[in-house]
Amino acid sequence: ESLVELIDVHRRYAGTVAALRGVTLSIEPGELVGIVGPSGSGKSTMLHLMGTLDRPDAGRVRIDGQDVTELDDRKLSRLRARTIGFVFQQFHLPTGVPAVDAVADGLVYAGVPRATRRERAARVLERLGLGHRLGHRPDQLSGGEQQRVAVARACVGSPALLLADEPTGNLDSAAGDELVEVLFDLCAQGTAVVVVTHNLDLAGQLPRRVEVKDGLVREDRLTEVR
Ligand code: ADP
Ligand code: ADP
Repeated sequence: ESLVELIDVHRRYAGTVAALRGVTLSIEPGELVGIVGPSGSGKSTMLHLMGTLDRPDAGRVRIDGQDVTELDDRKLSRLRARTIGFVFQQFHLPTGVPAVDAVADGLVYAGVPRATRRERAARVLERLGLGHRLGHRPDQLSGGEQQRVAVARACVGSPALLLADEPTGNLDSAAGDELVEVLFDLCAQGTAVVVVTHNLDLAGQLPRRVEVKDGLVREDRLTEVR
């Protein structure tokens, strides 16, 4: 069974042309998928729908077998907390909070006891090469390190799906390359990762690329990259 299914999805915002005009797309567990295309083509809208942050005007969105259009807001936020992690271009880390606590926060809704949360947070940060930064606050970390903390925070609850919107947008190319490694590692652990990116270098390294234009999927290509 697919982890994500968009079936003939339409989305129009008030006062604009349609953002999505009939998108059909499935994503399997553990897949690493890039979504590329010009600015305004509907990439973020697709990501928001996959993240259950938004609902389609027409068509179906199924996440982990559940039809998003049939769930009320409370059930949706539970599905989201259990299944989906988010990473943004701006790292969105809480200011003044040490890395280990920022990551441990990612487990609050999973009902994990506090001490266990910090242990698991430390373990994930170590896996991402940040074992020496546990007590550092965001302003004491480089951009690349902050983004890896943000990924750790999104992934500490082992979501089936990680959604990343321009995750390398504020990183230099070395930090961007490191982030790509982190994403590959996550996929190796079974998390499906969907990345919206303008970064051609990043997109070129992804095994599956979906090109979006004018609210439609124009190409959906698998490549042998590794
Ligand atoms: P992309 O991520 O490819 O840049 P978006 O999904 O952000 O594209 O946007 C698709 C279209 O929908 C654009 O025309 C954009 O201006 C419009 N749009 C996106 N979000 C909103 C919103 N919240 N309100 C109104 N229009 C929006
Ligand atoms: P930008 O558009 O400058 O790249 P981000 O990548 O930070 O901004 O955010 C992408 C989208 O995700 C925005 O539409 C924003 O409203 C939304 N967003 C940002 N933070 C959160 C959050 N914590 N939870 C849900 N949606 C968010």
